[in-house]
Amino acid sequence: MLDRTTTELKKYRTYIDGKWVDAASGKTFQTFDPYTGEPWALIPKCEKADVDIAVEAAARAFDTGPWCSLTQTARGKALRRIAALIEKHAEHLAEIEVRDNGKLISEMVAQTRYLPEWFYYYGGLADKIQGAVVPVDRPEHFNYTLREPVGVCAFITPWNSPLMLAGWKLAPALAAGCTVVIKPSEYTSASLLEFMRLVIADADIPPGVINVVTGYGAVAGEALVTHPKVAKIAFTGGTATGARVNELASRSFKKVSLELGGKSPNIVFDDCIIDDAVSGAISGIFAATGQTCIAGSRLLVQETIHDVFVEKLVAMARQARLGDPSKAETQVGPVTTPPQYEKILSYIDIAKAEGARCVLGGGPATKEEGGGRYFVKPTIFLDVDNRMRIAQEEVFGPVLSVIRFKDEDDAVRIANDIAYGLGAGVWTQSVKRAHGVAKRIKAGTVWVNTYRAVSFLMPFGGYKASGLGRENGMEAIDGYLQTKSVWINNGPGGGNPFIMKTAS
Ligand code: NAD
Repeated sequence: MLDRTTTELKKYRTYIDGKWVDAASGKTFQTFDPYTGEPWALIPKCEKADVDIAVEAAARAFDTGPWCSLTQTARGKALRRIAALIEKHAEHLAEIEVRDNGKLISEMVAQTRYLPEWFYYYGGLADKIQGAVVPVDRPEHFNYTLREPVGVCAFITPWNSPLMLAGWKLAPALAAGCTVVIKPSEYTSASLLEFMRLVIADADIPPGVINVVTGYGAVAGEALVTHPKVAKIAFTGGTATGARVNELASRSFKKVSLELGGKSPNIVFDDCIIDDAVSGAISGIFAATGQTCIAGSRLLVQETIHDVFVEKLVAMARQARLGDPSKAETQVGPVTTPPQYEKILSYIDIAKAEGARCVLGGGPATKEEGGGRYFVKPTIFLDVDNRMRIAQEEVFGPVLSVIRFKDEDDAVRIANDIAYGLGAGVWTQSVKRAHGVAKRIKAGTVWVNTYRAVSFLMPFGGYKASGLGRENGMEAIDGYLQTKSVWINNGPGGGNPFIMKTAS
């Protein structure tokens, strides 16, 4: 049970090269409990000097340490040890995340209990990574390919799902044989540090294979992105930050994967099961207080059922229980960070000024309403035009824009009329329409008659400004591997040394 009674700040150290250390400067920063708005722990403020130490440790572990001589089967076993330790500590890890991030305990326990699956899955995949013998077009040659790890990987993660998003990267990277340095968000570093203490430090992983640098994006983040010994950046965060990371990384030709923002359409056709779609619309925008990249923040409703649907939607959303995220009965928690709270409120003002009609919420939630310092009421806007800013820009909060559409073509046109392409929902009972619309939507994931479902088995990532590359599934491991082609000449040398050796 989460304990908020101690007022003394817990002091964390970070984990670099298998040791618990303070930042080289000795500096720290406070991390806050979003529910109370009070600081509860101190986190080392890592800067360039710490990043240099961490990357050097990861580079040593990659080139010379015991990790690089492990067989792929032994690497797989290491991942399975990690999985078992997460299972053992799932409840505690969930509570820390609730404290630091304000996510609901019910969602967090589900997340930390599911996270081991990533390590079991990629643990199983570790010794199935293999090259091929290639029947090259000359008889005297024997040719094959090797699938090799890219090297030191830097992970930069956001505050909204700190552990899960680090795990999505860590499991395939370790299975591929990489070593890593992780920079969590400055707002939510504690759960990753607890993960290092309870899971990694006990999982018999050699020093330097997994390192953590806690600190600010512009300092520790940029030092990582520009470090010459980092081979790959796996970034999850906002689209503007992703663009900056991509630009910096491209200067030294680092491989980059980006999981960025979204403004996902959740499309309700008049042949849907209305109660299921209402529930799917609510889960799309009010789960996780709307602070999820895949939020179904544009609800497209067919005009023939618009009024009936909206009435049911507003009635259900009005019932949402706001409150302490550590209580099992709470349904909507606080906004995680003060700047995010301000941003959500400013978008509510923008929507009102643009002429959208607010039919629920529309401002901060008071203590009497179950809220507190950083709570925003579940908010629904009707009469939204898809070209309004409230429909085009990511709010990342519990604010839903409802947009009417006429028919299937109109729905697809509106859904795709956006810079982003992360997710989309389709609610219909027609099989033909489900497959047809799923194909026409420009997004990395389309859910039909469900929303916000994820699995270690299903690739996840964005079209358009929502990102580059894929996490999860078989595809994710390719992002941590590179292919080497080996040519063995078993015949005579010679030939004309001044021309390329082509077949015949
Ligand atoms: P953010 O972009 O502000 O920060 C993300 C991370 O980048 C943090 O660790 C931050 O410290 C770091 N950072 C900031 N500036 C940096 C710089 N110049 N160089 C290197 N690192 C830097 O994002 P956020 O506010 O933490 O998270 C919310 C955003 O994340 C939303 O846009 C959301 O859609 C997105 N997100 C996307 C996915 C996905 O899978 N597509 C998942 C979760 C969140």
